Amino acid sequence: LNYRAIRFLTSAPTLAECPEDSGAEVAFAGRSNAGKSSAINALTGNSKLARTSKTPGRTQLINFFSLSEQQRLVDLPGYGYAKVARVMKDEWQRHLAAYLEQRQCLRGLVLLMDIRQPLKEFDLHMLTWAVEAGLPVHCLLTKADKLKHGPANNIRFAVEKALREQGLDREVTLQLFSSTRKTGIDTLERKLNEWLIS
Ligand code: GDP
Repeated sequence: LNYRAIRFLTSAPTLAECPEDSGAEVAFAGRSNAGKSSAINALTGNSKLARTSKTPGRTQLINFFSLSEQQRLVDLPGYGYAKVARVMKDEWQRHLAAYLEQRQCLRGLVLLMDIRQPLKEFDLHMLTWAVEAGLPVHCLLTKADKLKHGPANNIRFAVEKALREQGLDREVTLQLFSSTRKTGIDTLERKLNEWLIS
């Protein structure tokens, strides 16, 4: 698949407003500041896409990008913004849960976590939802360039161990990623291809 040929499709505030539930989709999620925009930018070479998702007022929307007629990437904005009101968070969580549980064309979830602070409450919620919904998850430990090779890998092993201990490791894979150094993009592409091309 050519991830550089990606195009913005639409934004949907609720499940009912999503594009037709057909073909194949992979969703990206992460706490705000996890490095999601940078990763999508590194993957697609398109800085406008990530900016689209960050336009104020659009932050609570599910953003759809098309790779082809039947293949899409979906940006699920993180709710880590301290300023977002509690009711907004609850509302957003409801839409998000509905999307994850009901979307038939959803093949997998890419969960982005800053390597220096993995497995926060948001991440555990997402992992639990996905595992309960039988949805495979691929975790990116982002900003891996902030650490040396050894410590970065030690965190990867520690996260794998924590997931095993919490029974969240089924259908969960993990990799190091750096948008700055452009490392891990090929591994991410292989995973996306595996999910999107069936
Ligand atoms: P988002 O809120 O998840 O979309 O996060 P952004 O992509 O906007 O990144 C948040 C901050 O982390 C920004 O200051 C980025 O420059 C920085 N950042 C993102 N990816 C990397 C990376 O791979 N390495 C480093 N060192 N910084 C990064």
